[in-house]
Amino acid sequence: MSDFIETKSKFHLPEGIVYLDGNSLGPLPKTAQNIVQNTIFNEWGEMLVTGWNKAGWMDQPNIVGNKIARLIGAAADTITVGDTLSIKVFQALASAASYQTNKKVFLSDYNNFPSDIYAAQGLVNMLQANHELKIVSTEKLIENIDENVAAVFFTEVDYRTGRRYDADKIIKAAKKNGSLVILDLAHSAGAIDTNLTELDVDLAVGCTYKYLNGGPGSPAFIYVNPNLINSLEPCLSGWLGHDKPFDFSLKYTPASGIDRMRVGTPPVIALAALEASLDIWETVDISDVRERSIQLTDQFIKGVEQNCPKLQLITPRTPENRGSQVSFSFENGYAAMQACIERGVIGDFRAPNVMRFGFTPLFIDSQDVEKAIDTLAEIMSKDLWNNQKFQKRKKVT
Ligand SMILES: *Cc1c(COP(=O)(O)O)cnc(C)c1O
Repeated sequence: MSDFIETKSKFHLPEGIVYLDGNSLGPLPKTAQNIVQNTIFNEWGEMLVTGWNKAGWMDQPNIVGNKIARLIGAAADTITVGDTLSIKVFQALASAASYQTNKKVFLSDYNNFPSDIYAAQGLVNMLQANHELKIVSTEKLIENIDENVAAVFFTEVDYRTGRRYDADKIIKAAKKNGSLVILDLAHSAGAIDTNLTELDVDLAVGCTYKYLNGGPGSPAFIYVNPNLINSLEPCLSGWLGHDKPFDFSLKYTPASGIDRMRVGTPPVIALAALEASLDIWETVDISDVRERSIQLTDQFIKGVEQNCPKLQLITPRTPENRGSQVSFSFENGYAAMQACIERGVIGDFRAPNVMRFGFTPLFIDSQDVEKAIDTLAEIMSKDLWNNQKFQKRKKVT
């Protein structure tokens, strides 16, 4: 049984703050400072270059990958960590393109995250040779999967609305047509009970600084189905994805297994910070997290709808159809969110009019939800957002 009072005590949360933005940047685990300090002083400082062997730095991407695997129902040694999510999306798409010799269409939907779409656009422009990026409405994804589709790629939980796609249904339709599926788990890993083994998906990618609390800019991860991995070209073929990096051969031979998706030198210090959070994740069961997340999101939806009639719920009301965030649309959403943040309830805003609140059971409890509802109710009933100081858009919203 997961102990969420215990997990909450393991994060540094500033006094008086209700942090509903762990879906954008997770908070600091209290042990991170010591773990990072140990890596810096005792490993980097004392071991210097011998740390690659002595401190096991070279194996960190796999060790950390295995800790993430447990949270998304992946088998051991199917995940490696490194680079940014945008890079991993590009790598997954390129590998799919190279695998699918006769299929030229990449299919996604309008609600996908811009970076995922840009990566595909860049790849298609580069490949030329009859490749095509096709973007359709979410509802029409399945009907557009045909024998020409090399890969379908989508984000399992919509970053704006929090809607959860029926990944199983999309994957089954893709299999029938010999299309690969690339699942983006940016808003799934640590948020919902995605099970990659049950889904039998081909590739998946995700980031670690959102629900996994790895810290700003912590590295991304990539999963490849063990039945596919040894037939897949890594495409971003770097030396650390080579079978024998220290032979320094000029002929590229991919490593067997997930190691081939590695590219270059692992970000050792960032991986240390990420491990601090994964130590906390080790103590919980993702099914408990999902259950608690549904309770918290239900409570928030109910409370806000009762108290803030001007806010329009855009997140699915049915728990199975949503991730771990709740979004409301409101024409003055940016200003209203600034007013919330000023009062210690931190969420964020996504253009054009979406107020986004993330619910992360590891450190958010129902009292926090109550406080957030009360704060929002006060702002909305007194139009407190209607103040010049809340209007000016900052660089990061
Ligand atoms: C957060 C997010 C990204 C961000 O990619 P980075 O390379 O880590 O900046 C990409 N895709 C999706 C779906 C996201 O939610």
